[in-house]
Amino acid sequence: MSQALGLETVGDLLDHVPRRLVHRGELTSFEDLEMESHATVVAEVVSVRTRKMRSRRGSITEVTITDRSGEAADFLYAGGVDRMTLSFFNAWTAARELSEGTHALFSGKVTRYGGKLTMTNPHYAPLDQDDELGALDAMAHVGRPIAVYPATAKVPSDRIATAVRTVLPGIDWSTVPDPLPLGVADRHGYTDLPTAYEHLHLPPDDRSWYRAKARFRHTEALMLQTALVRRRRAVQLRMAPVLDGRHDGVQSRFEARLPFELTPSQVTVGEQIAEDMAREHPMNRLLQGDVGAGKTVVALRAMLQAVDSGAQAALLAPTEVLAAQHLASIEAALGPLAHAGTLGGDPEGTNVVLLTGSMPQSARRRALLAIASGEAGIVIGTHALLSDTVQFAGLGLVVVDEQHRFGVEQRDRLRDAGDGPVPHLLVMTATPIPRTVAMTVFGDLDVSVLEGLPAGRQPISTHVVGLQEHPSWEERIFARAREEVAAGRQVYFVAPKIGDDDEVPGMTLAESAALLAQTPPAGRSARQGDEDNAPDPAESMVSTVWLSELVARSPELADVRTAVLHGRLEAQEKTGIMEDFAAGEIGLLVCTTVVEVGVDVPNATFMVVFDADRFGISQLHQLRGRIGRGSHASTCLLVTRREPDHPSRERIDAVAATTDGFELAQVDLTLRREGDILGDAQSGGRSTLRLLRALDDIKIIESARAEAGEILDVDPSLERHWGLALAIEAYLDEDTEKYLERG
Ligand code: ADP
Ligand code: MG
Repeated sequence: MSQALGLETVGDLLDHVPRRLVHRGELTSFEDLEMESHATVVAEVVSVRTRKMRSRRGSITEVTITDRSGEAADFLYAGGVDRMTLSFFNAWTAARELSEGTHALFSGKVTRYGGKLTMTNPHYAPLDQDDELGALDAMAHVGRPIAVYPATAKVPSDRIATAVRTVLPGIDWSTVPDPLPLGVADRHGYTDLPTAYEHLHLPPDDRSWYRAKARFRHTEALMLQTALVRRRRAVQLRMAPVLDGRHDGVQSRFEARLPFELTPSQVTVGEQIAEDMAREHPMNRLLQGDVGAGKTVVALRAMLQAVDSGAQAALLAPTEVLAAQHLASIEAALGPLAHAGTLGGDPEGTNVVLLTGSMPQSARRRALLAIASGEAGIVIGTHALLSDTVQFAGLGLVVVDEQHRFGVEQRDRLRDAGDGPVPHLLVMTATPIPRTVAMTVFGDLDVSVLEGLPAGRQPISTHVVGLQEHPSWEERIFARAREEVAAGRQVYFVAPKIGDDDEVPGMTLAESAALLAQTPPAGRSARQGDEDNAPDPAESMVSTVWLSELVARSPELADVRTAVLHGRLEAQEKTGIMEDFAAGEIGLLVCTTVVEVGVDVPNATFMVVFDADRFGISQLHQLRGRIGRGSHASTCLLVTRREPDHPSRERIDAVAATTDGFELAQVDLTLRREGDILGDAQSGGRSTLRLLRALDDIKIIESARAEAGEILDVDPSLERHWGLALAIEAYLDEDTEKYLERG
């Protein structure tokens, strides 16, 4: 039907779920309409006026419609938000079909023009004389809600409705398998499949529509959970190397050198992992722990247990910067134990190698050789580790750091090399994930939680700096940074973007904040057309380029050694800068969120996030986690040029109020749609949920989880549930497709 909506088959059409229901006689409020986007509303025609155009030939018909929301206070609303003006060009039919008092479905792009809502040449369908239906049909539909579909200008909602009404009666349901087993449908009181589709598209009342949607959500949950449980059981059946370690191996030597005591939680989680690895079936464990909770040590102990058992361990990092960081910190933690084969190394130790995509050929060849010969006990790398050219002598354990950047397929790639033993898997993430989201996205993993932070951690104090209210604080920020560097500490300045030279507004942040305060949003867009204007300071985000210029001009920071770090630099340059920063040779690092994940420089104690309003809660939390890692007190400033009552302030204030990642995740949940959160957790992972909402549908997901287990207990290959099996196959195919497109 439409490529724009991806509706190619009858099945696609049937699965195109109405967004909401409208009711005859009930008008859609204009208040919540999103400007500049496609909308469908039911409204009443107030007036119709046709006039000749002055400059051109032809006529223009102006139809005013209303949602009647202004009736209570008519005097306030005259021409206000309860009215919308529709302009039709040369549309005699519209002039005829729409008359005062007509109720109709209107769809088109809503624009606000001079304070008035408008649509130009909208599509419309009068509701009272539904002439697509025969008289009898129309009778049957009187009083029924009308389904409004996600639509586009080319394929308006009512045309989709017509198409559905056309195909629905002709479907031979005996050829359509129902993915939902009868027992499950009965238990929950769902209708059969044909009725569910009818209720989804042509509901007799609201309740039937919600019930039908619940059925499809449940089906989706069951497909997902069955796939996950099946996959989990399949992996559990495979053989893995038994990695039970040694009492006098590298692990115990390493533990003897640890400069701190493990926290009780690190010990407990460590035991869980050690036990998993000693089994002959593969471990599949997700390790959740807040930023700074000390996940690396836990992972390193597991890797050494693998080494002590004669196997290799691989640590997969999401970025080159992070891989290099891990190499540096693991080498530091192991000391001579990291260089078994070299002079001065401990012959009882092992070897650690790095493999990244940007390594020079010769270094890469050396690394590949060390990996293939088994000389390298621990291999740290990025995606490059997943390449076919990498041959391990005997890979026993894969650790994936910061899971949310890797997909399910990717973490499998390292493990599924043939029918031989499967390596154990440990996935680490700092993003607290609500239980049902974890069940949906990581449903095939066991979960361990690392609680609390290591003792002796200095607290981070966080403050919001509003430059509109306190323009003079800009200089204070630079002065504080200087004091910090003078005291031997190090500083991060984080900007939301890299930027270009010609975008720098040539003013201080406080000056641009003042401009931002003076210019109302409407005036702003009007000014954009002026060509001779410098870039609009109100529109330009703080960039690393702008920040560098401000730093260079600041007398306070003139002699501080500064470097700029961002994703556009060559990989080697990035690693070089990070190494210099870690070594304390750089005092101030101006950077983007490349430092967001995992970077560990305990001597960095001061972080300023500029335009903090541009970041999400969890991102700010991750960023802030880069400081407060050593024994000195740390400070984080969240700088904003936005007005004090800007909605983003709520987010920034929340981050300033607590350093507890789990508490912040909760706030985050309440402030934004769960879809985004899932989107976050799943970016690069399991992709689309169609109807299912991992936070709202807790009950459905939990019950589907149990049902999936029961089904697979009696019918492991799904032979007797072929409807479900087929649906899962289609679902996963699509998932993989999406995944491949993204990769
Ligand atoms: P994350 O969980 O964010 O990956 P890291 O593993 O990078 O955290 O640990 C953060 C810092 O805490 C590191 O500098 C690490 O050496 C230190 N650390 C880890 N465990 C402990 C502990 N038990 N006691 C003191 N410091 C610890
Ligand atoms: Mg980490």
